[in-house]
Amino acid sequence: MYSLLTVAALADISRLLCDLIALPSVNPAFYSDLSLSGEQRVAEFLSDCARRAGLEVERQAITADRSNLIVRLSPSGRARRRVFLAPHLDTVGNPNYAKQLKPVISGGRIYGRGACDTKGSVAAYFQALLAVSKSGPRPQNTEIVFIGLADEENMQLGSRHFAQTGGRADLAIVGEPTGLNVVTAHKGDVWLQLRTLGKAAHGATPHRGRNAVTEMARIVLALEQDYADLLAQRKPHPLLGVPTVNVGLISGGRQPNIVPADCVIGIDRRTLPRETEATVRREIQTFLKKQNLHATFDTLRTASCEPLETDPSHPLVAQLSRIAGRKTTLGVHYFTDASPIAAAGTPSVVFGPGDIAQAHTDREWVAVKQLERATSILDRFLREQP
Ligand SMILES: [Zn+2]
Repeated sequence: MYSLLTVAALADISRLLCDLIALPSVNPAFYSDLSLSGEQRVAEFLSDCARRAGLEVERQAITADRSNLIVRLSPSGRARRRVFLAPHLDTVGNPNYAKQLKPVISGGRIYGRGACDTKGSVAAYFQALLAVSKSGPRPQNTEIVFIGLADEENMQLGSRHFAQTGGRADLAIVGEPTGLNVVTAHKGDVWLQLRTLGKAAHGATPHRGRNAVTEMARIVLALEQDYADLLAQRKPHPLLGVPTVNVGLISGGRQPNIVPADCVIGIDRRTLPRETEATVRREIQTFLKKQNLHATFDTLRTASCEPLETDPSHPLVAQLSRIAGRKTTLGVHYFTDASPIAAAGTPSVVFGPGDIAQAHTDREWVAVKQLERATSILDRFLREQP
């Protein structure tokens, strides 16, 4: 495949990924030790590289100690198009975290925390941007903006803040390990809390009370059986299949000798395009009413997690797919930063080296060949912009 990336630049990509893996950046929500958590070390490292290459660097503050990294390559002429390269800088952590900060290259793979989720994408996107800025054909009228996003693994604070403060482009390429597939769709996610109220009584005289756990048990079975069946019978979305429901939390009662007055469940309902929290809530309320079951509803999230659905025939999506050698785009089952960015009006796709099956595992890895190919694809895509 045609590419202006040199052999030296491709060797650099492995070194860049190893450098990134060695910098601790676990999401602070999962790791309180500040010497190992937070995106700032990765952001500072990339800032230094970008400044040395003569690129414009900005830090967009989200909270007192969290920020997005923004690196801009301005076109030589008037900017008429803008492309975002948007991988996240945070990783998950686990008890072996310190060990996973030592990158290992073996058998054509690079091992270490974040290798595929998603420092592999960070390295490929950043290297492509540097290559385009250094030499060869360069867009005359397209601004390329690398956004190192904070907090994807927890609340997506970075992408939400970026989108809410006006970040718009003609296309956003969001980094996740898609195996170099172009992903145009994923489900959304609604979390709801349902509560049943009963009447407390002595455990020796249960007939004097009303058992909130029993009522909730009926609700759980109805949701997991009849409601789940209804969802399974829906017309499947071509890339995403059918919506699903999971009862993931239950809590009720205080001790065995008291009739419980209160029971709560938490449910996770994966949504298809055009479903919202309001439509899901109404649907479940109507379903329970028909079964003569009663519960009150609360939301469990402050920010909504909407489905992603980008038109695969959008010219820039089609161009990326062609360069990546993909005839079709895919849907995935996981939620990404593409959702908040797309919700604010930027057509967004997910694309990156590695396999989501290795993400968050103890032995996370990415194939060097895929890392190199991701860089070449992006290099070519950026250079083809006007
Ligand atoms: Zn990720």
